[in-house]
Amino acid sequence: MQSEFVDRLLTCVDCHGQFVFTAGEQIFFLDKQFKNDPKRCKPCKCKRATLGARAGEAPVAAGIARTETRTECSECHIETTVPFKPTQGRPVLCRQCFQTKRAQAGDAAPPTAAEIIAATAGLDLQPPSVDAVNAALQHPQA
Ligand SMILES: [Zn+2]
Ligand SMILES: [Zn+2]
Repeated sequence: MQSEFVDRLLTCVDCHGQFVFTAGEQIFFLDKQFKNDPKRCKPCKCKRATLGARAGEAPVAAGIARTETRTECSECHIETTVPFKPTQGRPVLCRQCFQTKRAQAGDAAPPTAAEIIAATAGLDLQPPSVDAVNAALQHPQA
């Protein structure tokens, strides 16, 4: 009897090295009804497992398991989501308003917190993400 499973070469999302998804593992995955191929090689999987167990949270670099909080844009009042818990009374901008503000930036209007943050973050070279600015608005440091 010929198995339909053959060893496959997959690329690890963490170290970008290739690893073998063996026929045996594929059968195991099917048996467990896992829908997706493994994303990481064994060393990286182990590393994540120990990291996760210790910190109790996903590594930031992965950028997936972040928390999204529903909130209201302080400009246009549409519902938007932010990757942190907004502080009461602090402005949160949706992506649309963030873009608008950036487009308007630089002239007579007094700089907003978002613009200051954008400027200090080197906006010309590398615009900070709206999430980064919102996070900074929530937790002003300077
Ligand atoms: Zn890896
Ligand atoms: Zn808005």
